[in-house]
Amino acid sequence: MSDRMIKVGIQGASGRMGARLIDLIRADAELTLVAAVDRPDHPRLGDDVGLILGCGSLGTKLTAEIPLGADVWIDFSTPGATLALARVCRDRKVPLVVGTTGLEPEEKAELAEIARSIAVLAAPNMSRAVNLLMKLTADAARAIGRESDIEIVERHHHFKKDSPSGTAVRLAEIVAEAIGSNAIVHGRSGLVGERPRGEIGVHALRVGDNPGEHTVVFGLMGETLELSHRALSRDGFARGALDAAKFLIGKPAGSYKMSDLLE
Ligand code: NAD
Repeated sequence: MSDRMIKVGIQGASGRMGARLIDLIRADAELTLVAAVDRPDHPRLGDDVGLILGCGSLGTKLTAEIPLGADVWIDFSTPGATLALARVCRDRKVPLVVGTTGLEPEEKAELAEIARSIAVLAAPNMSRAVNLLMKLTADAARAIGRESDIEIVERHHHFKKDSPSGTAVRLAEIVAEAIGSNAIVHGRSGLVGERPRGEIGVHALRVGDNPGEHTVVFGLMGETLELSHRALSRDGFARGALDAAKFLIGKPAGSYKMSDLLE
């Protein structure tokens, strides 16, 4: 291992995102995997994570404890585990990338407090293209948002636990800020009446193994503008998380965004 290689720890290592991260770390000359953490009742704790994921021995065991030695941690797990790891990173002064979504407001607040001690980059979507979608959505909402009916539609695999997706929530916040309205409506049912201007509709579809799609619809009289992103695999999210991990090395404490490293 070269001295200049960045030592990465992954939490949620045997999950869908963990598996893609570990596979991409193997192919990255700047990164090496030194820790793979998963839930305390995982049936394969103590086994080589590479053998668990079917990519051959990697020399890193799956553990429930958070071992020493990582230069940076990447978390794609569940909100409770995210906060537990964040506290450890704070105590050890190690930067942290958080991809986990569905954090409650108080969990987000604690993460922001921890980011006063270490560098933290938390993003509901690590894909470069989705972050460009966010920028384009802000531009479009500023230009035509006040005269449009704006609806956000997301599709994800049926295993997804939180709804709507963290990305859809962020897109709704971006639109709300741009048009000066907080009237976010989740789905519609019953005799809801005519759609008022300024409402931001959010709709979550759960279908098959879809890795994630987001569309922002701007409905005008006589025309419609749609901005869409479709993930074809999880690699766009995983590559973004690895770029974020590299970006955080040597950074001062603070809350960073994907736009900080994309700009
Ligand atoms: P997953 O269920 O496949 O993986 C989660 C992993 O975390 C599992 O291996 C699980 O055993 C592990 N885990 C659960 N509890 C734990 C604990 N207490 N300690 C340690 N590990 C624990 O889910 P996934 O599809 O990989 O997604 C994980 C998270 O990442 C979700 O919140 C999802 O919404 C989010 N996500 C974010 C992005 C992004 O770009 N930011 C992209 C995809 C998914």
